[in-house]
Amino acid sequence: MTESLKAGIYYLDRKLRGFAHPDALLTGVETRSSAPCRIPRDENLQSSIRGIYPVGEGAGHAGGIVSSAVDGIKIAEAILTS
Ligand SMILES: Cc1cc2nc3c(=O)[nH]c(=O)nc-3n(C[C@H](O)[C@H](O)[C@H](O)COP(=O)(O)OP(=O)(O)OC[C@H]3O[C@@H](n4cnc5c(N)ncnc54)[C@H](O)[C@@H]3O)c2cc1C
Repeated sequence: MTESLKAGIYYLDRKLRGFAHPDALLTGVETRSSAPCRIPRDENLQSSIRGIYPVGEGAGHAGGIVSSAVDGIKIAEAILTS
């Protein structure tokens, strides 16, 4: 893993000058990514269980802060108009 990281950092330095600067400090890597599965929703944004609205990242409908927030607004509107 260390060798791969080292190679990756030097590779990125060719695209983003300074990425492998000698003063740069590597403190950690982000090892988590978004949910690998998605709970399906119908046209009313509900799951197959009525009244359950899968929302946000854990449900597989968003991949970050903004998309989770936007998905939350969509679901809130769906609940208010149901
Ligand atoms: C280390 C890290 C770095 C990240 N960096 C970025 C970044 O730079 N930019 C970016 O866009 N995204 C980033 N993300 C992703 C982003 O944080 C998430 O995509 C987003 O917060 C998901 O929002 P959400 O509302 O779907 O879920 P969450 O923010 O996880 O909210 C779920 C909420 O439900 C609560 N909960 C869970 N179970 C229950 C229960 N049984 N009863 C009541 N409450 C419950 C939890 O306590 C939590 O408050 C990062 C994530 C991590 C882990």
